[in-house]
Amino acid sequence: MKKYAFEYTFEDWQDYIACKGEAKYRASQIAEWIWKKHATSAEEMTNLSKALREKLQEDFDFAYPEILLTQKSKDGTRKFLVKFADGETVEMVLMKYGARLTLCLSTQVGCPLGCTFCATGASGFSRNLTAGEIASQFLLAEKVASRDLSNVVYMGMGEPFLNTEAVLKSIRLLNNEKLRGFGIRHFTISTSGILEGIEALSASSLPVRLAVSLHAADSELRSFLMPVNETNPLPELRKCLLDYQAKTNDRISFEYALFGEVNDTVERARELVHFLRGIHSFVNLIPYNSTGGRYKAPTPEAVLRFKSILETAGFETEIRASMGQDIDAACGQLRRKVAGAEAQTPDSYTRTDVIAHANELHDTANIERYERKAKLIEKKLMAKKTSGGFIDRARKRNAKGTKNAFQKREHAPKANRHKLNAKKSVGK
Ligand code: SAH
Ligand code: SF4
Repeated sequence: MKKYAFEYTFEDWQDYIACKGEAKYRASQIAEWIWKKHATSAEEMTNLSKALREKLQEDFDFAYPEILLTQKSKDGTRKFLVKFADGETVEMVLMKYGARLTLCLSTQVGCPLGCTFCATGASGFSRNLTAGEIASQFLLAEKVASRDLSNVVYMGMGEPFLNTEAVLKSIRLLNNEKLRGFGIRHFTISTSGILEGIEALSASSLPVRLAVSLHAADSELRSFLMPVNETNPLPELRKCLLDYQAKTNDRISFEYALFGEVNDTVERARELVHFLRGIHSFVNLIPYNSTGGRYKAPTPEAVLRFKSILETAGFETEIRASMGQDIDAACGQLRRKVAGAEAQTPDSYTRTDVIAHANELHDTANIERYERKAKLIEKKLMAKKTSGGFIDRARKRNAKGTKNAFQKREHAPKANRHKLNAKKSVGK
């Protein structure tokens, strides 16, 4: 059976070339064709002998995943449904921020973690992607865009740290100077907070950027939103992040999706402040855009109040710019198209559910609307500020709230332990 060429490290190519009795420099030539010149067949590698090209074509599969569907947004965002050799599909998204081009790629087909707001989680898990399958999404995106990527975020379908080995290998492949040579600081891994994975990343000494999907700093609420919190509880996650930061000295990003009246209140913001104290953080607030499910969008006022509490406490915070609003709406069409094409097998329904993820993933609120509101509210705040207005009151409340959260928290871990133990014994 043919090997997938994108799984091969530079050393693997050197071994292969030595095995075939070819000159050493052939390994560099092959690596350059694959990783820098985006060749997808040996025939394209014109500076190799015909015999070597034939041998390569016989031994290796150089094909990128196949693009089944593409959606384009007015803002330049492009969403792709891609299919691997075994028929499994994932989504990847190309986003333009000014001159920068960022790829959001997938690490698993589906995800076993079942976060209650996430379509990927709802659809179950099929399999891990290999390092080559992860890296080939990158190369495919560059080929499609006809330019180099500026950043890559491991934030598509799946939990990267349930597939740590392949994820780290894909980063090493893409980063290796002899292969793609993509700058290590341009990688971001987003995790739901898998302690083992964060530790493995730290041990790998790969200085990529780390993003943690938090969404709640209260144990009970977080376990409800993200069941992974039961096995990777907040106090341990916090400690793990502190250790990570002590070793890497790197700022950690936190993703916090705001679900109306669930985790967007003043109390929740104070809990977050308490959790983040002592961690050099950047907080991305992602107003949830309801599509009629269990959760609803936060009001603009709640978003701004949340942001202002974090900022007052000294945390850098951004309401994350939403990309591809218009194609998010069209994502349903993508699903329908695929369902139509594959409706013969019951399996296909699971697959089409899985691809709904991208809709959810980038389906943040209409930021322009928020920004307009924000300006209005900021104007009002400025007017009030001189008379000890909103910001001062928030600051006072915040200071008091932190104290309250401290008091509350003293009891929380114990209570949660009981809860966890109770769950365990039921399982037995
Ligand atoms: N499994 C990893 C990476 C993939 S999910 C993780 O959880 O971090 C990428 C991001 O999308 C995460 O921050 C996740 O919480 C977020 N996400 C998923 N569904 C969402 C939704 N419906 N609304 C807002 N953010 C969502
Ligand atoms: Fe998995 Fe991340 Fe979705 Fe949770 S948010 S189900 S961890 S992909």
